[in-house]
Amino acid sequence: MKIARVILPLPLDRPYTYVVPEHFWHLVRPGRRVVVPFGKRKLAGVVIEEGTDEDIKGYTAKEILDVDMELPVLPAEILKLTKWIASYYMCSWGEAARAALPPGSAAPSAKSRARMVTMVQLSPEAPPYPPTGNRQQAIMEQLRIWDAAERLPVSQIEVLAECGGSATTLQRLEALGYIELEAEVMDRSEGIMPTRDAEESAIQLHEEQKTAISAINQQIDSNKFGCFLLHGVTGSGKTEVYLRALKHARDAGKTGVVLVPEISLTPQTVRRFRKRFGDDVAVLHSRMSIGERYDAWRGIGDGRYPIVIGPRSAILAPLKRPGLIIVDEEHEASYKQHDPAPRYNARDVAVIRAMNNGSTCILGSATPSLESLANAQSGKYQLLSMPERVPINGTPAQLPKIQIVDLRNEKALFQKKEALSPRLIEAIEQRIEKNEQTILLLNRRGFSPVMECTSCGWVPECPDCSVSLVYHKPLHHLRCHYCGRTERVPHLCGSCKLPTLDYAGTGTQRLEEELQSKIPSVRQLRMDLDTTSGKDSHHTILDQFGKGKADVLLGTQMVAKGLDFEKVTLVGIIQAEAGLLLPDIRAEERSFQLLTQVAGRSGRSNLAGEVILQSRQPGHPIIQFAIRHDYAGFAKYALESRTSLGYPPAGRLVSITFSGPEDDKTRDLAEKWRACIDSRLKVVDRLGPSPAFVHKLKTRFRHQILLKIPLDVPASHVRKAIFSANKALGTLPTTYRMNVDVDPVGIV
Ligand code: ADP
Ligand code: ZN
Ligand code: ZN
Repeated sequence: MKIARVILPLPLDRPYTYVVPEHFWHLVRPGRRVVVPFGKRKLAGVVIEEGTDEDIKGYTAKEILDVDMELPVLPAEILKLTKWIASYYMCSWGEAARAALPPGSAAPSAKSRARMVTMVQLSPEAPPYPPTGNRQQAIMEQLRIWDAAERLPVSQIEVLAECGGSATTLQRLEALGYIELEAEVMDRSEGIMPTRDAEESAIQLHEEQKTAISAINQQIDSNKFGCFLLHGVTGSGKTEVYLRALKHARDAGKTGVVLVPEISLTPQTVRRFRKRFGDDVAVLHSRMSIGERYDAWRGIGDGRYPIVIGPRSAILAPLKRPGLIIVDEEHEASYKQHDPAPRYNARDVAVIRAMNNGSTCILGSATPSLESLANAQSGKYQLLSMPERVPINGTPAQLPKIQIVDLRNEKALFQKKEALSPRLIEAIEQRIEKNEQTILLLNRRGFSPVMECTSCGWVPECPDCSVSLVYHKPLHHLRCHYCGRTERVPHLCGSCKLPTLDYAGTGTQRLEEELQSKIPSVRQLRMDLDTTSGKDSHHTILDQFGKGKADVLLGTQMVAKGLDFEKVTLVGIIQAEAGLLLPDIRAEERSFQLLTQVAGRSGRSNLAGEVILQSRQPGHPIIQFAIRHDYAGFAKYALESRTSLGYPPAGRLVSITFSGPEDDKTRDLAEKWRACIDSRLKVVDRLGPSPAFVHKLKTRFRHQILLKIPLDVPASHVRKAIFSANKALGTLPTTYRMNVDVDPVGIV
């Protein structure tokens, strides 16, 4: 008898053993995805090992139900990498392996992915009244939205993914005459590839590019692991370096992975890779349908695409031994997965994958993360610098000049609760006259539970954690969501002593209205979470802007990333300190990165660029560093403050979140666990539990404990202590959960 050990996408501490029925003998091997019974359920897992019945004396194992022949076998290298992820990020191996499979493949019904798909269309004779069921109504509403956007028919998979429900819900809607279902042969081809850019590029590399390329190529040729930090200002020609290095690797028969933060925000970068490498490139993105991803995954596994470009999950693509791994904008928070497990950082996994394969890794950024900078300073990474923009006609293009508008002097704006200063309005008008374009950045979330002084910009902070305190309405107090410290809401500003504390906040929509009322003729496009929920909406907005169909592109930080529009000569930053208010240890770093990034959007071509930066705290060190384009100054300042508090890169963080339907019970569990960890991990700073920044999420309450781990405490020690504390706490009540997030980023 033949048996197989299978890892499952559940928080289990070991693989499970199954019997391989004889008709599957020739198909089952390590890396193969199989469907197995688990309790009363069926689950999809991955085989990691084969064996014989010698191994299962003493109990009866169940049989494997099905074998997935549509997916390539996971290479041994990927299995090993997912095992590392499981151990480092403290999840199960099966959960980690889930990230290496195309999404949707955790569903056990292997048959549902045959090449036939069910397409859903509104029936022309749909009754005028809504159906009775809630789920049915939700589906109809969504279909009407898609219909209005001319997106019907859509696949059943997509409908169910968006609205929930099951195939039967749809069948019932069909029986009631609301919709039509039709089986179609799936057309998942990627569309026509742009033709290859024949002349490898007429571009003459500048000196720093040459130095960088020659170091990188040498590393590639050595077949040994090496990691570079390519620190180049915006427009210095980093992408050109990636393209050349990749060409070099390809010419030597090697494959490559390129990670970009978010595909929809970096269409221009992707296009350049496509142009240079044609249909050697597989582009993965989060808005692909499940079928499209399957096809891409198979093509990669079969070796049809030697180059893969995509967001974080692309790092686990089944490419044969990538010789070069590139992480563009390595500082971006979107490389970190929050939910579900594995909560991995694709940038760090990229380095490990390169290490495992003896390959070359390039981390590129205009504003490297402090973690990567520290690694470069310690010699773990080799630093390559490109401090100047690509020269135009012999002289380096200048970084744009940044002008400051001190909002403290704009009393009229403050009284009318407006955001656009006369100076900025005038500059926008000038651009419209000259047929040039403007980008406006509102660096601010829709809500902001932080208080600030409207006179001087002061924000109450936790003295121990150096993060903004969060206002909690029910109890009317301020709270540090790192350490749990609470304080009363002050009446007077802690700095200027005026009674002008208020909640921070203006939305993009309000800004849009204000601009329209001040310049009635303005043509604007807004880009934020609301306007970009559709499948191609990013693309459409950027495309229209690129074609000159609007004078102003206005939005949240989405407008800051990677865009390269020749006609943009003005960037307006509405409230530069806004990002500093977020209660996050990386708030300053993120703000500096964002301000630098958005300023880099201006004056990309031979038209000179200008940036107008509005702020209530123009003297804030971060804003000063950004104005002077002073990354080194910023890094020194920020590293000092991180070091004094033991934050990364001077220490490591692990955040543990308990969540459940009842607030008190969730808090109790967190407190009990804290007591368990206290006795086991004395060498580590333990903070909390305190309510998570987002205390209530989807009807569940969340409480958080933060471990601050000195660098000399081994990760394995922490891991052991956490597992042991979990054991001591015992099984959680159903519907209660505990998540471990290693190296959390963003608002933890
Ligand atoms: P980054 O990725 O650092 O922002 P890019 O690689 O996008 O910079 O380069 C900015 C622009 O300059 C692009 O349009 C690119 O094609 C062009 N470019 C890059 N290197 C050179 C060079 N050596 N000479 C002329 N133009 C270049
Ligand atoms: Zn604190
Ligand atoms: Zn004040």
